[in-house]
Amino acid sequence: MCTPIKALSNQKYRDFKKEFSDVGLLTGDVQIDSDSKCLVMTTEILLQMLYNRSEVISNLEFVVFDECHYVNDPERGHVWEEVFILLPQTCSLVLLSATVPNVVQFADWLGRTRKKKTYVVSTRKRPVPLRHYLYVGRDKKSQHDRHMIVDENGVFINDNYKMCEELIDGYKQKFGYIKRCPQTERQIYLNLIRHLQEKDKLPAILFTLSRNRCDSNLENLMAISSDSFQLISKAEESRIHSFVWHHLRQLKSCDQKLPQIVRTVEMLKRGLGVHHSGVLPILKELTEILFSDGLIKVLVATETFAMGVNMPARTVVFDSIDKHDGHNWRDLLPSEYIQMAGRAGRRGKDANGTVIILCKYDIPDSPRLTRMIQGCATQLVSQFRLTYHMICNIHKTSQTDETDIEKFLERSFGEHNRLKQSQDVNKELQSLRQQIETLPANDCNHCSDLENFCLTFEEYVQCLRAVMPTICQRALEKGRLNIGRIVVVIGAENPFESALIVRVNKDRHNNITALTVLSLAPNNATNGFQLRDVAVDCVHKILNKQLKNKSFDPKVIIDENENVKNKYKAKEETLRVVDMFRDLCLDTNYSLLNTDSIDPKTNLQIKELDLVDKINKYITFGTKLLTFECIKCSDFVLHFCKTNHKITLRKQEIDLEFKLSSQSLQFLPEYKTRIEVLQTMLYLNQHLVLELKGRIACLMAEHELLLTEMLTNNVISDLTPQQIAALLSCFSFAEVLDKTSVQEGIIVRCIQRLDELLKFVKMAANKMGNKELEDKIELASKAIRRDIVFCQNK
Ligand SMILES: [Zn+2]
Repeated sequence: MCTPIKALSNQKYRDFKKEFSDVGLLTGDVQIDSDSKCLVMTTEILLQMLYNRSEVISNLEFVVFDECHYVNDPERGHVWEEVFILLPQTCSLVLLSATVPNVVQFADWLGRTRKKKTYVVSTRKRPVPLRHYLYVGRDKKSQHDRHMIVDENGVFINDNYKMCEELIDGYKQKFGYIKRCPQTERQIYLNLIRHLQEKDKLPAILFTLSRNRCDSNLENLMAISSDSFQLISKAEESRIHSFVWHHLRQLKSCDQKLPQIVRTVEMLKRGLGVHHSGVLPILKELTEILFSDGLIKVLVATETFAMGVNMPARTVVFDSIDKHDGHNWRDLLPSEYIQMAGRAGRRGKDANGTVIILCKYDIPDSPRLTRMIQGCATQLVSQFRLTYHMICNIHKTSQTDETDIEKFLERSFGEHNRLKQSQDVNKELQSLRQQIETLPANDCNHCSDLENFCLTFEEYVQCLRAVMPTICQRALEKGRLNIGRIVVVIGAENPFESALIVRVNKDRHNNITALTVLSLAPNNATNGFQLRDVAVDCVHKILNKQLKNKSFDPKVIIDENENVKNKYKAKEETLRVVDMFRDLCLDTNYSLLNTDSIDPKTNLQIKELDLVDKINKYITFGTKLLTFECIKCSDFVLHFCKTNHKITLRKQEIDLEFKLSSQSLQFLPEYKTRIEVLQTMLYLNQHLVLELKGRIACLMAEHELLLTEMLTNNVISDLTPQQIAALLSCFSFAEVLDKTSVQEGIIVRCIQRLDELLKFVKMAANKMGNKELEDKIELASKAIRRDIVFCQNK
């Protein structure tokens, strides 16, 4: 049984122990009955076991992962992913998770990685359904103003929302706003708690999203609780008193007088509790036990309480829905809201869970509320990352070669999606290659330089597209792009197609948008012609050729053709014009060689420098096209189209190949650079076998390179135990260093982390064969393992 945090492991252990006898517990702090048939542990411990090839692993039949949506945790999610990849295939996994939208995708990955069938069992139904309310009460009269805005079926109740809005507006009317001050807060809390008590809605968890606001809310509750309300009976109070002191008695008398202890005991005795990361571990544990016994009626807590142990209440209250995420204020995410709101409603005790959002000064917009309450949970995203620690551990056995690592990387969740996509790309590539193979080769004698022609043609078209819209516009203004004029356009079946302009399409600013042209049908079918629109950037050139003025009426041609479905259907007038048009074009067999065209610089007087530059480029490439031998081939157009098609397909092939290669392994380049670093620093030798330094780095879950360097360069060995503890505290006290007033619980946590680090370093000293250093570290560890810091594990 794996859980994300120690506290949850402890709780699961206690729960299991009530039912079964053969249960053990393994966390960083405790080892109880480690040879039991059922072991509860944190995922980190399981990973260590996997890397150390522990005996437990080889006998493992099932692993149950609780709260496995932790895979999303940016700091520690990668540990879960590594464990999923490394667990032996014989072992069956059961994963328990909150609702996630992409559970099937995740299961798909797991199944592929584990090479096993995966079954997804899910329900959107909560055993205890939730009702969501807004609370706008603030005095005796409005004390019970709690209104449901989302019911147990997830339906938003707009009328109730409107009513709350009006009530808040009513309070604001006097000053235009509601004054933010402790008095207002106290009033609201006093009425809220009286309301909850009267309506039998306690116990409640009051989620307050910052530690400081937690403490100020408590101040307010303490200030009003002494004379305004009584949460618990005298009998309950004495039960709490004797329970608390039974445990606190073990502390040294000076520790018993710590301000946090004194204050918390006073709170607990009134049925109030507090739970956040700044609270001393021993007090946290006492609070949890009292809360699950129903003796704490109002618990003020931060988000961490929702992520930790499973302790539901009848009611959950949100002090506010704003959260500071370290950079900005933002609304709670749907998944965060649901995680906390989900604490409302105890199985078997409550028919519904009550969730209340306090509206102290304002009412959140309804889109904000619905997004948060009814929104989608966060997707599971791979947090996989390469660490030196992981690489060293994978290389522990000397047989590891590159392909093993590739396989390991391929099995990560992130790569899974890329691989899925690459399977599709691969299919596409196969069919493309088949298509290319079936194309007949062009063995025409005249077309030996056709492939090069195609490449030049492509560059030419790019230049053309850059200038032709402007040239056409200028030509129109100078009367050179008129009805009856012949232009050369890029056609679908003939890249150099002559076309007769029958209409110039313009927008309301007189800018040219397209040309309606009449062109001869492909294959030179005697009567074939086509009327269509062409974009101006598909025009090669405007010829100095046109049908005589008034020799035809374009309107008649358009009318004759536009309402006819069959484009090639001949009409009398059109046929007459087509004949004239064909006569005019007959002097060349295709229009590429027709060079008698309008010169943009001289005929249109284009003088702008950048435009002239572009036009020169277009002319240069156009002239270059005329130097190729292939254009003299009698079947040039046909041969060109075939070859050009083949070139286009080959380009697609190259694109797909590139996609496949870059897609297959995102982590491989990083892996290779990391290996180089490890080889340069002598952690791995040239044959990728671990050296002593590498074996030491295997032991360090964090700061692996820095700590190993310190150890192997004798930075630590000459120090006294006290100095060692002081030096290593740099690694675990980061949180303390950037805070001015630090709460007791945080300091204790840092010291515990330091102790964990000392354990790793001691193992490393043992591996190095340095007995003296090992003993010193043991002394340092003993020196910090005292008093209140470690008493919660007794
Ligand atoms: Zn040819």
